[in-house]
Amino acid sequence: MWSNRALDSRIAMATSFSPDSEPAWFRWMSRTVMRLGLLRSTVVTTFIVAVAAIAISQLVISVSGYGNRWVAVGSATLCSVLLTPIIASFILRLVFALDRAHQQLTVLATHDDLTGVHNRRHFMTVVQREWDRARRYNTEAALLLIDADHFKRVNDNHGHLCGDELLRCIARAVGESLRQADVLARFGGEELIVFLPHTDPLGALDVAERIRERVQALSLPWKGETVATTVSIGVAPLRNELPSLDWMIHEADTALYAAKSDGRNCVRTLPFEASRSGGAFPVNSR
Ligand code: GH3
Ligand code: MG
Ligand code: MG
Repeated sequence: MWSNRALDSRIAMATSFSPDSEPAWFRWMSRTVMRLGLLRSTVVTTFIVAVAAIAISQLVISVSGYGNRWVAVGSATLCSVLLTPIIASFILRLVFALDRAHQQLTVLATHDDLTGVHNRRHFMTVVQREWDRARRYNTEAALLLIDADHFKRVNDNHGHLCGDELLRCIARAVGESLRQADVLARFGGEELIVFLPHTDPLGALDVAERIRERVQALSLPWKGETVATTVSIGVAPLRNELPSLDWMIHEADTALYAAKSDGRNCVRTLPFEASRSGGAFPVNSR
């Protein structure tokens, strides 16, 4: 069994190969090969090898002073045309398989396999950059922590498969409520997390409320019954006083705790200075 750190470094190592980290000529060649596809890449490679073989054979004849130039052209072309497609297609097949495997590994390393949204590790990497940028350029942002209410009951009453399906429905509903630039991930268990860049506190509450309503409207048909659920959401706007992303998550968690304490199926945030309305902003919403 690997420790978390060992597993992290293995995944990082496995996914660290990226054409972007290679020299420019290699990136250009990889892109060209992928664009051409297996058949055309093989034809192009055969042509290049044939031309190179003819040139070398002519050079050898010129340097040594022996040999028939036309026989050399014929044998160089024949060897290239017979051998290169076999060797090139084998190597190119490996290159394509490697590229596919790398793409699959990247998806596995960055996505949660149950819900299909990003996993926590990838979220932290991406959002740390977003967070740093928001701090540097003094732009607004917010974080939502979303927790399914009484989810244990869903599992107890309808089984884990039903719970899994409902989690997928919740993740889809949340994803459909967001913009392209927002980052959604499964934070753990029945909890999702969302980072909203360029979003002021009121906007974040709007989004959270929209998500809450959307999940409340969900109904999953399951073995002749209809299963429904709700979510509680904690909202944390980015504030200058926050020392780190972890603190922001902690504030969202505290707000989520308040939402649970207030009876669930609601949105809560900690008190903050309103930046748009100019007046005091109500702490709660539903
Ligand atoms: P609360 O409203 O206080 O959040 O109640 P809860 O029951 O949702 O919270 P609790 O922390 O007691 O239980 C979380 C439940 O979520 C228990 C666990 O079985 C379930 N859960 C976590 N991850 C998964 C999952 O991947 N699939 C399924 N089916 N259930 C999950
Ligand atoms: Mg939970
Ligand atoms: Mg829960």
